[in-house]
Amino acid sequence: MIEKLVIIGVGLIGGSLSLALKQAGVVNNVVGCDRSPQNLQKGVDLGVIDSFELSISEAVKTADVVVVAVPLGAMHMVFQQICESITDHTIVTDVGSSKRSVVEVARQTMGDRFPQFVPGHPIAGAEKSGVEAGFASLFQNRSVILTPVKETDNKLIERVDSMWRHCGAIIEYLDVDHHDRVLGATSHLPHMLAYAMVNYLSGLNDHDEIFRYAAGGFRDFTRIASSDPVMWRDVCLSNGNTLLKLIEGYQDELDMISKAIQHNDADQLLQLFGKAKSERDSLIGNC
Ligand code: NAP
Repeated sequence: MIEKLVIIGVGLIGGSLSLALKQAGVVNNVVGCDRSPQNLQKGVDLGVIDSFELSISEAVKTADVVVVAVPLGAMHMVFQQICESITDHTIVTDVGSSKRSVVEVARQTMGDRFPQFVPGHPIAGAEKSGVEAGFASLFQNRSVILTPVKETDNKLIERVDSMWRHCGAIIEYLDVDHHDRVLGATSHLPHMLAYAMVNYLSGLNDHDEIFRYAAGGFRDFTRIASSDPVMWRDVCLSNGNTLLKLIEGYQDELDMISKAIQHNDADQLLQLFGKAKSERDSLIGNC
């Protein structure tokens, strides 16, 4: 049971976590914290949070668990304010989409309290953002990856693990850098490709026709280009080095296709597409 939960950043992820914990009956009092009082009032009206506080350092003073659910670019400022007033029994966790940058921010700002921070990342989301987009079942049967480091207090890892299990999530553990590489490949790179694809096509002279005739494949491929630009700008910058290597590798694959087309190399194209098809078929078969 969590007596007082403070959610900093009452948006899609923070709001959904609050709703899921309330539905599971494992939290007594949820206090939201955000930049905008209007957003927080909306959170109260929608029943996502019980009350709100505009000052982060005030809100966390008596918290049992603090969840940081702001965009990655705001983490530093938020952690600076958290560490001013948490006590030695407060658990701090986050939901950021890349982990190395958040762990470094927490290490720099939390000092002796760094072992109280349990880094986490729910692999669940949507293209919509904001408090009104939240829903209680968002994490049902979805993975949540925890990336504790050697200093992290084991008892607190168990508490955060249990919090997410109450939301219906499946908990997995990864090393911080491994997380950033795997999620860089499976989530961050595809978002960059979708944004680039939409921008490229919308810059073409006949983009009206292109979008008018857009079929299912185009919609599937570019769905994630409707995701929040602020969030993805921050993900890009905080996992930059990993992402640059992945973009380079992807460009090599595109070059291979270009060369095969230039050389009219049907065998090479068949081999490239056949390999991708069998990889994807076996992947989906295993999901
Ligand atoms: P969101 O719906 O836009 O919510 C972010 C919340 O943070 C908003 O309520 C925003 O409120 C608030 N906020 C922004 N800057 C702030 C600041 N400086 N101080 C206090 N509050 C601030 O975004 P989200 O999708 O929930 O993403 C939140 C976090 O979850 C991000 O770190 C993201 O990487 C991670 N995540 C997202 C997804 C996804 O698919 N969306 C999945 C997994 C993890 P105002 O702007 O109104 O102040």
